[in-house]
Amino acid sequence: MFDKDTRTVSYDAGRGEPRANRRNADANSGDCVDCGLCVQVCPTGIDIRDGLQAACIDCAACIDACDNVMTKLNRPSGLIRFASEAQLSGQTSPILRARLVGYATIMLIAGSAVLYGFTRTTSLLIEIRKDRNALYTRLNERTLCNNYRIKIEAFTENQALVEVSLSGSGHFELFGPSKIDLRENSSTWLPYRVCAKDLQQPRADLTFYFKGENETASKATTFLTQAI
Ligand code: SF4
Repeated sequence: MFDKDTRTVSYDAGRGEPRANRRNADANSGDCVDCGLCVQVCPTGIDIRDGLQAACIDCAACIDACDNVMTKLNRPSGLIRFASEAQLSGQTSPILRARLVGYATIMLIAGSAVLYGFTRTTSLLIEIRKDRNALYTRLNERTLCNNYRIKIEAFTENQALVEVSLSGSGHFELFGPSKIDLRENSSTWLPYRVCAKDLQQPRADLTFYFKGENETASKATTFLTQAI
């Protein structure tokens, strides 16, 4: 993700090198007096003067330490500073770049997706499992039944009672607890049976409705009248 215009904590080698302390400094010496404070304050123990390193966390502690030394020596601050490779080599470095706009767009989309996810949270977690042992049972010539197991979990204490009902594209009838008390049955698999009369198609859509005290939810499943 880095390019030559990425601003990061950088040592201005052109200004700082060759390093020399006050005793052995001459006209060719750079501004770095090799005090070593930038290395001492670095939480990751690196020497930023060796160049950009993966361990650097951009905390800027070395910038502050170096600026203090430069100020005491009456030299301009910024020997270590936030700068791009292009800036350090004397070129201009635009802030607004196509890469930056691309990353900002991706972040915006990701942030919007997270926000959308938060608005879609539910206080009821519902699972429905169809009994796979017997796809259907025949009660009489005209009536077939399917068995389901339903589990409801509530994420708030306000959802104590949940009413269970049914709708679908047939004449379905629901057998099982019409109200679930989540104080006793949260996360418990409860058996339900759905029966239909004179259903001709091999399968039909079925929707369970759940009405809590503060929230309603629905869950779709299928009703089978023959092995598919
Ligand atoms: S910015 Fe922080 S981590 Fe990076 S070299 Fe300077 S002191 Fe070390």
